[in-house]
Amino acid sequence: MNLIFLGAPGSGKGTQAEFVSEKMNILPVSTGNILRDAVKNQTEAGLAAKKFMDAGDLVPDEVVIGILKDRIAQPDAKNGFILDGFPRTVEQAKALEEMGVKIDLVVEIDVPDERICGRMGGRRVCDKCGASYHIEYKPTKVESKCDSCDGNAIQRADDKPETVLDRLKVYHEKTAPLRDFYAKLGKLKTVEGQIEIADTKRLTFEAIGIQ
Ligand code: ADP
Ligand code: ZN
Repeated sequence: MNLIFLGAPGSGKGTQAEFVSEKMNILPVSTGNILRDAVKNQTEAGLAAKKFMDAGDLVPDEVVIGILKDRIAQPDAKNGFILDGFPRTVEQAKALEEMGVKIDLVVEIDVPDERICGRMGGRRVCDKCGASYHIEYKPTKVESKCDSCDGNAIQRADDKPETVLDRLKVYHEKTAPLRDFYAKLGKLKTVEGQIEIADTKRLTFEAIGIQ
């Protein structure tokens, strides 16, 4: 099964993708996490991506498409994957089709911009494994320490309020058109993001048809 999670930055799509990946035992693929690793390790792709990410812009399609293609060609992606943060442009969606990737379902997590701005400040991410947290809605067990590895849960540089607004704008301009793209293919299911993560989880599982 191949799934796509679609949603604005801070919509909680990464958190839901983690739940579904665990439940269905399919590989989560977050292009944001892969890119942050690439930046940290100063790879060629990382060096190309950094300035776009810091500004809240999209990394150029050719860079991200290359990264995604390499990742899903790995043996651990054989039984399916959940794409979190890809595609983000219609070009990227077309590239997926050209790769011959069959998408079963696209789950959109819909959250109003006002609510996103309000909660972005509390968001944290593990600097080692990429696991996501929120100081209020999904705190780590030990303050600032990742629950799943020995990494630290830190605030991302691009979660500053100014950058968040830029990222929301980019989302509405470039990524939101993907709703139509996948709705026309009959593959889109929309979940209204709830205040409580557990409530969104229930609705997400319902949309996918799992329990
Ligand atoms: P969020 O969903 O919170 O915005 P991500 O971790 O998915 O965060 O992405 C962080 C940044 O990485 C984006 O703002 C963008 O610069 C870059 N990025 C991630 N995925 C893509 C993609 N598919 N295409 C272009 N840029 C991407
Ligand atoms: Zn971790």
